[in-house]
Amino acid sequence: MAALNTGDEKLVFESSENVKVAGTFEQLGLKEDLLRGIYAYNFEKPSAIQQRAILPIVSGRDVIAQAQSGTGKTATFSISILQSIDTSIRECQALVLSPTRELAVQIQNVILALGDYMNVQCHACIGGTSIGEDIKKLEYGQHVVSGTPGRVFDMIRRRTLRTKNIKMLVLDESDELLNKGFKDQIYDIYRYLPPATQVVILSATLPHDVLEMTTKFMTDPIRILVKRDELTLEGIRQFFVAVEKEEFKFETLTDLYDTLTITQAVIFCNTKRKVDWLTDKMRDANFTVSSMHGDMPQKERDAIMSEFRSGSRQVSIPYATNRVLITTDVWARGIDVQNVSLVINYDLPSNREAYLHRIGRSGRFGRKGVAINFVTLEDVRILRDIEQFYSTVIDEMPVGVADLV
Ligand code: ADP
Repeated sequence: MAALNTGDEKLVFESSENVKVAGTFEQLGLKEDLLRGIYAYNFEKPSAIQQRAILPIVSGRDVIAQAQSGTGKTATFSISILQSIDTSIRECQALVLSPTRELAVQIQNVILALGDYMNVQCHACIGGTSIGEDIKKLEYGQHVVSGTPGRVFDMIRRRTLRTKNIKMLVLDESDELLNKGFKDQIYDIYRYLPPATQVVILSATLPHDVLEMTTKFMTDPIRILVKRDELTLEGIRQFFVAVEKEEFKFETLTDLYDTLTITQAVIFCNTKRKVDWLTDKMRDANFTVSSMHGDMPQKERDAIMSEFRSGSRQVSIPYATNRVLITTDVWARGIDVQNVSLVINYDLPSNREAYLHRIGRSGRFGRKGVAINFVTLEDVRILRDIEQFYSTVIDEMPVGVADLV
């Protein structure tokens, strides 16, 4: 992994105070058994955000950490949590909240993997799963809980998730969690935590209103921020196809199908209905695709996730069912499948943040990625706005785009 470029040298951060940069995992002063887990997971050197944010988090300060998609934010807080907990006390000491169930489970797996030599108990507390199972796991005792707000609050209210020993609250994809849809639930949970709880928030996107809001629940936080014109990754090339009308999108997509299956691709639509519609239409035309959205039963979502993740291990089989995924913004944030190298916005996203997160499903940790936006005449304005906002360039898709994937 050492050869991959995480842009360490080029990434520009704006910190609220002088933060120390630790160039190696040893310099982070981590516990021996944690260090072992990190190396066993094949990490050799901390990424730029890990070099800057782990020390402040471990020191107990409230931290606001922003870094580009796929540059290692999950491991940043996972390593910090593992360093900070005392595994001899089987009580929840760190609570991680994220906006989707799949992300909460992914985080649980990262914590368990990095903590493999630490005997750590980490439970994913998410909606759509058995409440009885949750109660059993929580009553047994968990050092870390990674969950979605609804189920976590439910477990706290039942006193099944005991909050007495929690010393750290992590909000991953924090701008999404502090958005209208989730904000009240987050405050509900926050009220049950001990007053001294350390708060850590992370995201690739942290709009002004979110930063302003942090004064209400964070104390003198260390801020590690990225300017918005530094947020897009050089490794992800961005293109548009002028489709003119909505009706022309489908044919454009089928023309691209061979390119999609070169590695793995994610196609975003703006609604669940559109995902169902496009999936059916692709299948009717004999194209193999998977699809996932939030109205599917959790069991089915789990099966699709594991199938798609397994696609990363079977790159030699073209046209496998796990190469092309049609989905909604449920997939926009945080999900890490390293072989995704192409993202298609069949519909342009309705907000600037979603754009950045969607295209960030490709180009993970310095890998190359390509994003292709289908643009109708009415969409041109939105695309130009995105270009300007992030000071980036979205060119017309070249003929040989497959060579870039
Ligand atoms: P983010 O949360 O910033 O979007 P992730 O934490 O999901 O990014 O990391 C993206 C990918 O990079 C993951 O596959 C992760 O395993 C890998 N990764 C993270 N940190 C390192 C590191 N220090 N060395 C090598 N790979 C890393």
